[in-house]
Amino acid sequence: MKNLTILTVAILCLLQITTTLSHADTITNHYDHFTQLSTEQERQLGVIIPPEGTVKVGESNGIPIYDTPSRRFTDPEIAEIIRMLDLVPEKMLETPPRAIIAASKDTAGRAIRPNAVATASGPYIFLGTAFFQGSAGGFSAKTTENDRNSIFMHEYAHVLQYYHLDPEKGKIQNMKETSSLVFDFAKQAGWKAHRRLHKDKILTGDDFAFDVVRDGNHQWFLPEDQEDGTTKYGQTNPVEDHAEAFGWVIAGHPGYLSGARVEHVLTYLGATRDDFTQGVLPIHPRALRSRGQPRGSKKFFQDLTPDGFTRQDGDRQYFCFIDDDEGISFDDAMQYYAAEFTDRGYAADIPIEHKILPLKEDHASAVYSFDGQHVLLQIVDLTNADQYIVKGDMTIRIALGSYSP
Ligand SMILES: [Zn+2]
Repeated sequence: MKNLTILTVAILCLLQITTTLSHADTITNHYDHFTQLSTEQERQLGVIIPPEGTVKVGESNGIPIYDTPSRRFTDPEIAEIIRMLDLVPEKMLETPPRAIIAASKDTAGRAIRPNAVATASGPYIFLGTAFFQGSAGGFSAKTTENDRNSIFMHEYAHVLQYYHLDPEKGKIQNMKETSSLVFDFAKQAGWKAHRRLHKDKILTGDDFAFDVVRDGNHQWFLPEDQEDGTTKYGQTNPVEDHAEAFGWVIAGHPGYLSGARVEHVLTYLGATRDDFTQGVLPIHPRALRSRGQPRGSKKFFQDLTPDGFTRQDGDRQYFCFIDDDEGISFDDAMQYYAAEFTDRGYAADIPIEHKILPLKEDHASAVYSFDGQHVLLQIVDLTNADQYIVKGDMTIRIALGSYSP
């Protein structure tokens, strides 16, 4: 009876999606495992089932948003969810989350840590208060709209993984063994698998196949020379690596990932890099390290505004402080930002210019614009400017662990 239910559900889903899977042939996938489960089956797999008493409070792109008895979304939070749902690439809407749910510790149990921001379980995405207000996953700065895009798409990718689970195998927690989507990604991204307890028995050739890896006797590992291709969190396992890749590419930061990862995501989505990067502010280069910020900020920054530019309301300032000899050099930083802004479709209204400030610090500024909005870029080398800077907890953690579970 149970098997019949699975089969029926699976067939219905396949019927529903066959017409829309137009680029299914372009990647190696295994849609025979495409599946949706009943609540009871999900419970058995360890999915966090939304509690009784959820109330629908919104919807976008056919995806409903729910309050729970222990937490209600505020109006601005609902507006923010709708904004993010509108950004979801079309391909991902074929396998939508069943609901976006207001999470607290009570609703999501242990899966939501007191300061956690978001989590996905089965077909559900749970968003905690910290997602909207806080600083995500160890970041010192407050989460930005772009951070939230990245976290949200990361969680959404876990939902995609769920739809490619093999319901006959494992628990929801070890999707890395039973989601064909994760397998395809992992192989392409450079993960290897060896037999459990036999690190020298590495799968090669035809043996490195989905059916072999998911037999439960194999373990994934990322060779050391491949670690730079993903974030610290992505290095933990292929499931998180896959989710990180979706999060970073869709939020417009493909440069943080290896080409194979970017390619995988773009192929899956039938999209190009530019679909996600244009007009998005770059993030700092991975090698940037800074521990300080200038003292007496307001005057300091006014002095740095380039000649011929008057700041207007709505213009954004974008700072890069270099404060560590072991990190990126000043010249490299200048080149990095000039290339990034150009690549992201910004016009250089005032091209980047290098100056030496009175205390001999290197400084560069530029003004870029996209869609009528100006961004004032300031790069300041504070390495030898102790009298100017406040050392403190402003460490910019660029190597980035993850944002979210
Ligand atoms: Zn995750």
